[in-house]
Amino acid sequence: MYPKIIIDKNKLIDNTIRMKHLTEANGISYLSLVVKVLAGYFPAVEAITSAGIECLADSRIENLKKFQSLPVKKALMRLPMPSQASMVVRYADWSLNSEINTVRKLNNAAKNQGKRHGIILMFDMGDLREGIFYQDDYLDIVDEILAMDHIDLIGIGTNLTCYGGVIPDHENLSNLVKIAHTIEHEFDIELPLISGGNSSTVHLFDTHQIPEGINHLRIGEALLLGRETAYGKALEGFHDDVFTLQAQLIELKEKPSYPIGKIGMNSFGEIPIIQDKGWMRRGILAIGKQDVQLDNLLPLDLGVELIGGSSDHLIVELPNDSYKVGDVLSFRPNYPGLLQLMTSSYVKKELR
Ligand SMILES: *Cc1c(COP(=O)(O)O)cnc(C)c1O
Repeated sequence: MYPKIIIDKNKLIDNTIRMKHLTEANGISYLSLVVKVLAGYFPAVEAITSAGIECLADSRIENLKKFQSLPVKKALMRLPMPSQASMVVRYADWSLNSEINTVRKLNNAAKNQGKRHGIILMFDMGDLREGIFYQDDYLDIVDEILAMDHIDLIGIGTNLTCYGGVIPDHENLSNLVKIAHTIEHEFDIELPLISGGNSSTVHLFDTHQIPEGINHLRIGEALLLGRETAYGKALEGFHDDVFTLQAQLIELKEKPSYPIGKIGMNSFGEIPIIQDKGWMRRGILAIGKQDVQLDNLLPLDLGVELIGGSSDHLIVELPNDSYKVGDVLSFRPNYPGLLQLMTSSYVKKELR
């Protein structure tokens, strides 16, 4: 059945083991593997877990609920919705937080369930997504969290290169470590974890620029696609071909490349800009924008080029007449493409 995303199990496990070793060698004693792009697809998450990891992380509590049978810690990456506090406590061991009101709700939910819930308090070091702004006062919030009887403050963290594109460097991560030391000193406690970001922090490994004290990372893309995300460089030894999309040809015709008639809007309300390249061999594949934004796909068959498409169709130019209707073409998705494909219920998933 097509379209289908094929996940190479051995390469996935191999990348997981490599990431464990790479992070350990760089002072990261605790690693959380962020699997949100897999949209809860259990067989792949189970394979990652089988590589001997400590902690699975996801941005949706609904996914963590699916992973309950897996014998690892579960962490929620998106700040909890107040309305889901009780679910968060039930299905996550710890979560990232920046709102004291939400932490109060988590404390209450944990009390009701007779549990403890861990918190990493998030600081915004300049990327301007989640976290307490690093120049703001935070000691009152820490004071209140420490007084809660069902919450454990397990550390502080930051997230970079997500909204503002700010790259982790020695300076912004050192500022995070300084905040941790201030908290430890002020309250005479030890913070077990200082969480220095996501796949964009991996680029600092090369130059040994991770400041002393950063001992936790939350890694998704670097492991799954084999590249760091500050500059998009390939990671040596990692597989960049874990995921392959296959789609089937449903039409094959020689046609002009330029439409005939007066041009208005296409099916997505845009006025198309189309280059006239004369007659071409055009193929239509049974996959469309309802499944994936088409320019997130890289054709793997030599000479095949993306032309465009609509909700349910992808039009390609074919290099020769060796193709027939029913043939299957392969594509490599980038990270946003993978997220869309894994989320589409029309795309079959297969781990093999
Ligand atoms: C998605 C996410 C990560 C992982 O990001 P990658 O770029 O896939 O490594 C880490 N932390 C938070 C808070 C996230 O939302």
